[in-house]
Amino acid sequence: MGRLEGKNCIVTGGAGGIGLETAILFAREGANVLLSDISGPALDRAVAKVKELVPDAKKIEGKITDVSKEADVEAMVAHLDPWGGVDVMFNNAGIMHADDADAIDTPEKIWDLTQAINVKGVWFGCKHAVLSFRKHGKKRASVINTASVVALVGAATPQLAYTASKGAVLAMTRELAMVHAREGFRFNALCPAPLNTPLLQDWLGDDQAKRHRREIHFPTGRFGEAIEQAHAVVFLASDESSFVNGTDFVVDGGMTKCYVTPE
Ligand code: NAD
Repeated sequence: MGRLEGKNCIVTGGAGGIGLETAILFAREGANVLLSDISGPALDRAVAKVKELVPDAKKIEGKITDVSKEADVEAMVAHLDPWGGVDVMFNNAGIMHADDADAIDTPEKIWDLTQAINVKGVWFGCKHAVLSFRKHGKKRASVINTASVVALVGAATPQLAYTASKGAVLAMTRELAMVHAREGFRFNALCPAPLNTPLLQDWLGDDQAKRHRREIHFPTGRFGEAIEQAHAVVFLASDESSFVNGTDFVVDGGMTKCYVTPE
């Protein structure tokens, strides 16, 4: 408890699987938390849930934000000016569109939408976080950008726009980590394996074959849980990770290190 005491944190995609679990842990660790999401009703439910689960939480607020719109991101970050500015930015909002496919079948509009949210949204989040860190004279700050294991290993079940977007998040995060290191601003990318969250599970539905195609690659034999990502994000957000910078922080149950899974 108290690992994020006094820190002002933003969680984008805060109404979704990883975002909500992270907001709950951030609140438990003593942070002030702004949850943001494109979906207003889901955001209201998420904010209410954090308050219910962490009744003694500090500031817990919500702000509707489309991360692909710079004005929205700017307003989201400005919301923390009266709090003393941002200390931790978790750029986590992302989509994996049902029409995303291979090089031949991915519609251009799905490509553009995916890059606009998953890549440009992360850039805007990083940009306005840095501006806030500087404005408020932060000597240390942490940005965590959600990428994916598909940025590291190839998948024969293609989602080309999504995969390209997550590769961009890794590369962007690495460069930002170098550029801002002397200012004390850390940037790390989180690389989750497939999870039990709506993003993937709604898409898999009842299709057992599609599900098995993915589960077979886990040494553990199971998908990850959002809370397992959230614990990693707390570490990256806190000063415990003060010498962790520019990493592809993989939380995957060993999936990307696996050749043959146990029987
Ligand atoms: P989720 O779908 O549960 O949550 C994503 C949230 O982002 C939703 O609440 C959604 O409303 C919000 N969102 C979508 N578009 C937005 C926009 N333009 N602006 C602001 N918010 C927007 O998914 P999740 O599993 O919690 O995913 C979080 C992140 O983790 C994503 O970046 C995703 O790509 C990544 N990821 C997920 C998995 C997985 O298997 N679930 C694996 C690897 C990486």
